[in-house]
Amino acid sequence: MFPNTIVFIDAGHGGLNRAGEYTTAPSKMFRHARGAFHQGSNFYEGVWNRVVTNQVMRKLDRFGITYLPLHHDYLDNSLQHRVDMANWYGTKFARSLVVSTHANASVPHTARGFEIYTSPGTTESDKVASIHWNNVNLLRNFYPKGTQITMRTTPSGSQHDNEANFFILRKTNMPAILIEHLFFDNFEDATLLMDDNVVDLFAEAQVRTIIEYFNA
Ligand SMILES: [Zn+2]
Repeated sequence: MFPNTIVFIDAGHGGLNRAGEYTTAPSKMFRHARGAFHQGSNFYEGVWNRVVTNQVMRKLDRFGITYLPLHHDYLDNSLQHRVDMANWYGTKFARSLVVSTHANASVPHTARGFEIYTSPGTTESDKVASIHWNNVNLLRNFYPKGTQITMRTTPSGSQHDNEANFFILRKTNMPAILIEHLFFDNFEDATLLMDDNVVDLFAEAQVRTIIEYFNA
């Protein structure tokens, strides 16, 4: 659909390996006091991130849009490796974009909402972030009844992904956004994240943002 363009799809952290073991640090998971998530009451952020990016890639396939996942199916690839991939392949295409998928967490597990991060300063990435928030908002009416998807306009105070933010956003040579899709350690947000409809809408918003950005 867009010749000479590539979008780098990034699912943060690692997933479940073949033995059913979570490959990422305990800070990227949360054991809820109730509910059923990935393994019993455990919510694994890296697993959820991959559910979204798989859906994004399925949709991109339908448009014949060239993409490359920066993440492994389940290993927790280093941020340096992910950045190196984006920067190497990025030089082979006229235009490229990084979209990194995460979900947030913070103590004491009461924070909720949606955040989009870009590298500091005014860059092309800010334009992508604006397009994306608009697309998330456009789909608001299609979320399950009663769903609140709020944009957090101030930093959450969470240290959860700050390191990832700065690295994947600052070290890549192309526009890049990192999306924190709600808070997986908050029961209400985590319940929303397990809703296939919500996941599909988050994926749909990413695909619309990619198309809109490359179309501009
Ligand atoms: Zn994360």
